[in-house]
Amino acid sequence: MAITVPQRTAPITTPPRQDDNLGLNSERMRNALVARLRVQGITDERVLAAVQAIARHRFVDEALASRAYEDAALPIGHGQTISQPWIVARMIAAARNGKELGKVLEVGTGCGYQAAVLAGVAKEVYTIERIRALHELARTRLRPFRLPHVRLVFGDGMLGVPSAAPFDAIVVAAAGLSIPDALLSQLAIGARLIAPEGGARQRLVMIERTGAQSWVRTELEPVRFVPLQPGVLL
Ligand code: SAH
Repeated sequence: MAITVPQRTAPITTPPRQDDNLGLNSERMRNALVARLRVQGITDERVLAAVQAIARHRFVDEALASRAYEDAALPIGHGQTISQPWIVARMIAAARNGKELGKVLEVGTGCGYQAAVLAGVAKEVYTIERIRALHELARTRLRPFRLPHVRLVFGDGMLGVPSAAPFDAIVVAAAGLSIPDALLSQLAIGARLIAPEGGARQRLVMIERTGAQSWVRTELEPVRFVPLQPGVLL
C-alpha cells in the first residue's frame, strides 16, 4: 500500500538543509578543532584558516556528522576513510613551506575534504581518485562549496596528472611501499611532495625537488593511511 505524505504548498519557514543539522554548532566545533591543531603544533596560519573555513561534517554521512570535528579518521565507504584533520593540516603545511602555491596535486580525493582545504591555500587544485564512486561522491560533496579552482580527475594517481604538471606541491593521501617516480618527475623545482610510505608500518616522507635531477628526502613521523593501489575501479 502506498503511503501518502501530506504536502505543504509552501514552507512556512525555510527548512534546515538536510546536511546542515549541526547548525551554528559546526562553527564553534571548528573553532575548537583549530585550537586543538595549534596545541598539536600546527603553526601555519593560512592552513589553520583553510581548516576553519571548511565544514568537515558536509563530507561524511549524516550518521557520522556529529563526530566530524573529532580529530579522527572516519569511514567514507569503499573501505576508505576521510583523513584526520591533524594529518591534513600537517601535510599541507609541510608541502606549502610558507610559500604561495600555484598548482597543487592531491593523490586520493576520497570524499574531497582535503581538496577543499587545499583550495584555501592554492590557486589551482588537481585531485585524482581511482575509485569511480568516490570520485563522483567528492564531486557532489564539493559542489555546495563552489570552488571552481578544484579539478577532480578520475584515474590512477600513481601516474600523477602529467597533462597538468609541474606542480608546486604534491600531497598523497594513501600509502605506497615507495613513492612513484611519476610523481617525483611532476614536481616543480623547489616544490615538495608529502606522502605516507610503507605497509604495516608507515612513515610520512617529504621529498623536495632541488634540481632537474635531484631530490632530497626527509623522513617525518609514523602515520597510518589506507594503501595506495594501482589501476582504477569502475
Ligand atoms: N583525501 C581524502 C583521504 C581519502 S583516503 C580526505 O580528504 O580525507 C585515500 C584515498 O586514496 C582513497 O579514496 C583511495 O581510493 C585513494 N587511492 C588509493 N590509491 C590511489 C591511486 N593510485 N590513485 C588515486 N587514488 C588512490
